Amino acid sequence: MELYDNTGNLVQALTNGDSPKISSSKYHSLLASKDRDFLLSSTAEADQQVKISDLEGKVVGLYFSANWYPSCRNFNRVLIGVYEQLKSNGCKFEIVLVSSDEDLGAFNGYRETMPWLSIPYSDLETKKALNRQFDVEGIPCLIILQPDGSALHDGVELIYKYGVEAFPFTKEKLEELQREERMKHESQTLTNLLTNNGRDYLWNPTMTRKVPVDSLIGKTVGLYFSAQWCIPCAKFTPKLISIYHKIKQSLEEQGGGDDFEIVFVSYDRDQSSFVSYHGTMPWLALPFGEPTIRNLAKYFDVQGIPCLIIIGPDGKTVTKHGRNLINLYQENAYPFTDAKLELLEKEMEEEAKRLPRTDYHEGHRHELTLVSEGSGGGPFICCDCDEQGSGWAYQCLGCGYEVHPRCMRAVDPSNAGSVKDG
Ligand SMILES: [Zn+2]
Ligand SMILES: [Zn+2]
Repeated sequence: MELYDNTGNLVQALTNGDSPKISSSKYHSLLASKDRDFLLSSTAEADQQVKISDLEGKVVGLYFSANWYPSCRNFNRVLIGVYEQLKSNGCKFEIVLVSSDEDLGAFNGYRETMPWLSIPYSDLETKKALNRQFDVEGIPCLIILQPDGSALHDGVELIYKYGVEAFPFTKEKLEELQREERMKHESQTLTNLLTNNGRDYLWNPTMTRKVPVDSLIGKTVGLYFSAQWCIPCAKFTPKLISIYHKIKQSLEEQGGGDDFEIVFVSYDRDQSSFVSYHGTMPWLALPFGEPTIRNLAKYFDVQGIPCLIIIGPDGKTVTKHGRNLINLYQENAYPFTDAKLELLEKEMEEEAKRLPRTDYHEGHRHELTLVSEGSGGGPFICCDCDEQGSGWAYQCLGCGYEVHPRCMRAVDPSNAGSVKDG
């Protein structure tokens, strides 16, 4: 992974210009305008100015963000925590907001929630130039600038992943973090994932019995991150339960009924919703509210729920995409290995050859066309079951309506005419 995008040359070109008014400072050339050599501090008062020259020698994050965008507000919470901790540790670090707010009032309200500096709202030109120079395509975006002129673009990802550990965001530091992470994953075992000082058990489905974590060693184990308040979870959980039973049953027929287990990792907000939600599931659970849950989410980089992570019999991660695989292949996805998936993909190709090129689906009035990755398809959300799909799909070429081939239901012949015409 190439983390570094060295803008040193560009900075040189800017700072070696022939105008004597341009400071030799890199931060000055990026952040000042011809009549402004300061940034705003976090209070709303007009005289709260901070000289750009104060940034010299610091690592500076350019934070492209807007108050109207929920992803920015979510990231702010994390970034503020990291910023405050770095500041209190005495780190040479600063953040400068480059706002995309729609008016001055929104901008002022927004920056008051943040403890760092900002470029004045009125200086559109500087904001535009920064967006262009750093190729900012979406927000939130955090560009980290080093005093030596190098820059890296994935500050948001790094802050989410490593928090304060990422500082000072140098190539060496990030390589060290990646090395540590690799080592952690290589030495991963089910026991070190699921136990916690002193606790070496999980709850059974009725929460009447403690099941030792070690009893899962050698099995394929799904870690199911989910919560009762989460609407997509409410849809996915019953499906997972039915598929879990089917996998268990088919394993039993082969004499290995114990080879598969799921562990519920709860994102519930309180013990009672945890208990009632777990009560609907036929599998084990980590105790509610344990630090292990946060650690697992960070370790596996869980960005949304429901999420199903599959651990193999050797204790290593098989896939983080268990949910997608369940949606695509149902119980056939088991044991979720690359070899199994290759086989399933081949089968799907063969099966698709037998499907009609076009067909009607009960849920849509236009004719649908069979598409694949190579013929206009690609990853999609099924309009019938609301789950992700990839590969083969039936698609309405006119309005983009798309469903899994298996979600296709024939049009009721009694009102077929009206559906087709309507
Ligand atoms: Zn579907
Ligand atoms: Zn249509």
